[in-house]
Amino acid sequence: MVPPVKKDRIITQLPKCFSPNTALHTKDGFHPQVKAVCEVQKTDTLSFNFAKVIVVGDVAVGKTCLISRFCKDAFDKSYKATIGVDFEMERFEVLGVPFSLQLWDTAGQERFKCIASTYYRGAQAIIVVFDLSSVSSLAHARQWLEDAMKENDPSSVLLFLVGTKKDLSSPDLLARIEQEAIRLSEEIKAEYWAVSAKSGDSIRDFFFRVASLTFEANVLSELEKNGSRHVTDIIKITGGTEVDRSAIKKKPDCC
Ligand code: GDP
Ligand code: MG
Repeated sequence: MVPPVKKDRIITQLPKCFSPNTALHTKDGFHPQVKAVCEVQKTDTLSFNFAKVIVVGDVAVGKTCLISRFCKDAFDKSYKATIGVDFEMERFEVLGVPFSLQLWDTAGQERFKCIASTYYRGAQAIIVVFDLSSVSSLAHARQWLEDAMKENDPSSVLLFLVGTKKDLSSPDLLARIEQEAIRLSEEIKAEYWAVSAKSGDSIRDFFFRVASLTFEANVLSELEKNGSRHVTDIIKITGGTEVDRSAIKKKPDCC
């Protein structure tokens, strides 16, 4: 039997963005239609239960540490290069619905690029990581995004630009590099975050935001795909109980 989701992975409210200027959206709560679906669904499951998330960026910018800090609450000072790809599955409950992030940690080295790129396909979110203490790693972010996008449909992928090692960056450098990162985020339509895997700063908030936005996007895309059908038709009723159709609106209130 699958163990229950850890109490600290339960999401009941849409987590806040890092900076409103570079947020994928700045609404206060989940989309009303998503809330309605989850409310009536109760113990039943939607026809998806996870989102594939790929994490890309230069060698040693902190991709593995970012994931380890969140999934294992651990930080390793020593550097161990990721070979090819690795992945972690992190379980959440969003609005009462079990949902997981499949986090693909890729190698930044050129010689592993072709192996890693075969895993890019079918991502719901792309996290482009750079080091807040290294200007060159930010300069390479656009190339990483382009490579990851070759394998994906731009209209259905959520982008995040994440600066790591905030603890290492001097206030001056941080201000300069952030200005550039925010400009790039606006241009590529990514949500910007600055975090530290060493101190844990903003790590949990960031992954909760990724889980919430991918969950919301998945529900909305499923509703859209099945636009002509009732919302309840796309919910697999595993409990056999009748659901309250009146709580569901047919069309989203906003885009
Ligand atoms: P990857 O190649 O992108 O996966 O990089 P790693 O996650 O393996 O990290 C590379 C190096 O940077 C390691 O020595 C880590 O200890 C260090 N590192 C990663 N994140 C941070 C951070 O937030 N702060 C500091 N000070 N060092 C970090
Ligand atoms: Mg790594």
